[in-house]
Amino acid sequence: MEHAFIKYVAKGSNSNTYKFALAKFLLDYSRSKKIISDCTISYNEIATKFLEYYWFQECKYKFKQDFNKDKMPVVIRLIQKYCGTEYIPETYEKYFQDKKDIQKKLISDIEKQCFKDVIPRFQSDGENPFYMHFHQISESERKFMPPQTEKRHIILNYKALSFFKEEYETLTKILILEWAKFLEKTNFTPRLISKIELMKDPKRNSLNKFRKILLEMDNKCFYCGESFDNKTIHIDHFIPWSYIYEDEIWNLVQACSNCNLIKSDALPPKQYIQKITTRNENHGLLKWNRDINEYYENCFKAGFKIINEEKLECKSAI
Ligand SMILES: [Zn+2]
Repeated sequence: MEHAFIKYVAKGSNSNTYKFALAKFLLDYSRSKKIISDCTISYNEIATKFLEYYWFQECKYKFKQDFNKDKMPVVIRLIQKYCGTEYIPETYEKYFQDKKDIQKKLISDIEKQCFKDVIPRFQSDGENPFYMHFHQISESERKFMPPQTEKRHIILNYKALSFFKEEYETLTKILILEWAKFLEKTNFTPRLISKIELMKDPKRNSLNKFRKILLEMDNKCFYCGESFDNKTIHIDHFIPWSYIYEDEIWNLVQACSNCNLIKSDALPPKQYIQKITTRNENHGLLKWNRDINEYYENCFKAGFKIINEEKLECKSAI
C-alpha cells in the first residue's frame, strides 16, 4: 500500500492539486477514527474538507494555483465566484457563520464538479483498493444499503484506514512535500510548507513581549504619528501576518487602535517602507532586516491589497 500511495501522490503529471487534497482528507479522516472498520464516506463530506483546504489557500494565503488564469482549477473558480477574489481577514468559521447557504452551495458544487477524475483515479493497484466508489457497487448490492449510502460515496477499506492511521506522520510528510513541490512553481510566498501543513485558522502567538521594545524605539503610532498616552497600543505586522507567517521584530510596529483596524491584513502605503527600514537601521535590527522591498512587492503580487494612504493620514506621519 505504501508503494501505491507514493505512486499516486508523488508520480505522474498533475494539472491541479486535487489528489493531494484527497490524500490529506483520507489521512486526516483515518487518524480521527477510533475503530478500524470499513467506512462509508459521502462525497459531501470530502467536499466539505476540500472547501476548507482551498478556501485557506485562496482567501488567506493567496496561493496561485496556475499562472494561467484560464487553467485555474474549478474549486478555485467556485470559491472566487462565491467569496470574491480579495483577501478575507475573518476566520473560516466567522466568515461562513452568517453565510451558511453559500457554504452549502459551494460544498454541493465542489461535490458535483471536482471529483469526477480524482476519486476514481486515486487507487492502489488491483487487488487492494483503498476504497470502493459507489459506481463499483452493483445495483443489486446497492439495494440493500441504508438510504444515506445511496448518494455518492466511497467505502474506505479497513486495511487502508489502518495503514493511513499507522503511517500517518510519514505519509503526511510525503504528501506535504509533494504538494509544496507543485505550488512552489507558481508561488514566491515565504513559509510555503508551513502554510500547506496547516490550512486552518492558526493559533496566533501573543505579541506582548514586543510591546516594551517597540515603545522604547518610538512612543507614537507608526502610521499616523499620534502619541499613545494612555491609549491602547496595538502591534501590527507591517507585511501582513498571513503572508509572512512569523512574528519577527523587524516586521512589527506599534499602532493606535484606529490604524491597526484600518490596516488589518493589508499592506501599508509604499512610502512606509523607507520609514520601517530607517527604524530597523537606527535600532540595530539590520541583522534581521531582510529585504522589505522584496517582501512587499511579492506580497502585493500575491494579491494582498495596499491600504489607501488617506485612511492612515500618513502625510502627518512622515
Ligand atoms: Zn495611528
